[in-house]
Amino acid sequence: GRVRASVPIRSRIPSPYIGGKTITQPSVMQQQQMPDEEEEEEPIQNSSPNRRLNAYGLPSRHPSRGNSYSRPSINTPSNLTDKIRVCVRKRPLNKKEVARNEKDIATINSQRTVLINEPKVKVDLTRYVEQHMFVFDDVFDSDASNEEVYQRTALPLVEYIFRGGKATCFAYGQTGSGKTHTMLDEKQGLYVLAARDIFNLLRREEFTHLASYIGFYEIYQGQLYDLLNQRKKLFAREDGKKNVVISGLQEYNIENVDALMQVFDYGNMARSTGTTGANQDSSRSHAILQIVLKHKKNRKKFHGKLSFIDLAGSERGADRGDADKQTRMEGAEINKSLLALKECIRALDQDKKHTPFRQSKLTQVLKDSFVGNSRTCMIATVSPNISNSEHTLNTLRYADRVKELKSERDRAD
Ligand code: ADP
Ligand code: MG
Repeated sequence: GRVRASVPIRSRIPSPYIGGKTITQPSVMQQQQMPDEEEEEEPIQNSSPNRRLNAYGLPSRHPSRGNSYSRPSINTPSNLTDKIRVCVRKRPLNKKEVARNEKDIATINSQRTVLINEPKVKVDLTRYVEQHMFVFDDVFDSDASNEEVYQRTALPLVEYIFRGGKATCFAYGQTGSGKTHTMLDEKQGLYVLAARDIFNLLRREEFTHLASYIGFYEIYQGQLYDLLNQRKKLFAREDGKKNVVISGLQEYNIENVDALMQVFDYGNMARSTGTTGANQDSSRSHAILQIVLKHKKNRKKFHGKLSFIDLAGSERGADRGDADKQTRMEGAEINKSLLALKECIRALDQDKKHTPFRQSKLTQVLKDSFVGNSRTCMIATVSPNISNSEHTLNTLRYADRVKELKSERDRAD
């Protein structure tokens, strides 16, 4: 793993000891992950030990442990049942970039590492390349399909909400890097793939008491708008059990993919056209599609929740100086919410007592996803081309700090 000496090495191969956790060497089947010790404390609502959810090749809950314990390393697949998972997805060069002969500067050299070759110019004007290496739970190359990404990101969350958990899956990245393609593509976004499995599970005998409800809303400038109800303004509050309730949110009881797609299309139109005209540009808002499992007999009884979040373009948080006042205000709000998001996920990771969710509307409405029995998966999306290298590095650094596994040592040097 060493880079050629002619290239300044600011990145180092990270220590093989990641996050101080010990996990078991995975067996031949990579999918078979060992559960965390903490898992024992998680709520299990359907807990007959012989009737576990294993339809996806996910871990059974109490697999016999092998003898060979070892420290996780970048060569060991990450644990799909981690409370926080941070993954990266690189999109392919697009036609324009290919036509411009743009270089691809993002190399994915293992299942968990990405290398960025940043072009630089010295004071004496000689050019050189600075390499940065990052380690994540998973790194998806430009040829990975949404289905492949789904298997290692949202699918474990689907399993988790059936056991009574709350889960969120975020797409974070610069505008044009593939957030919407990953999360909310109308036909093959992660939300559809997850819903497909959720609907199938709901047809099983053990889950006939549950039903799924879809809500779809947007956060723009600290204000919530219902995408399934003519962009009606919404307000969030907490119920007696400290669950976040968005009063008046239109929710649809949906049971199959066709119905879901119809509802989604309707909401998505409200997102991009913005009937108020206030928000023409989806890169300036966060979109949240949530699937809530409730008890059929008592809809107030909440079982689990999975949210898919297509975040505002990360570069928008930096709109300053030359932008007009409106754009600067939007940028400040986006910046605030993305910073708060990072801090909240970190607090969840470190089991901190205090979670700073009050710092933004985004983290306020997701509060119940940052405390207690919650899981989070962040997918940082990056563009591969040279002219986006600064944004790409910013995205990777942000993602790196969300869960410090991690790699790039230049900030400490
Ligand atoms: P964002 O939502 O981050 O602004 P989009 O998801 O709209 O970005 O992606 C920008 C363009 O790139 C879209 O045309 C999309 O279809 C395409 N694209 C993004 N990611 C991929 C990918 N992994 N594979 C193929 N095309 C992609
Ligand atoms: Mg988008």
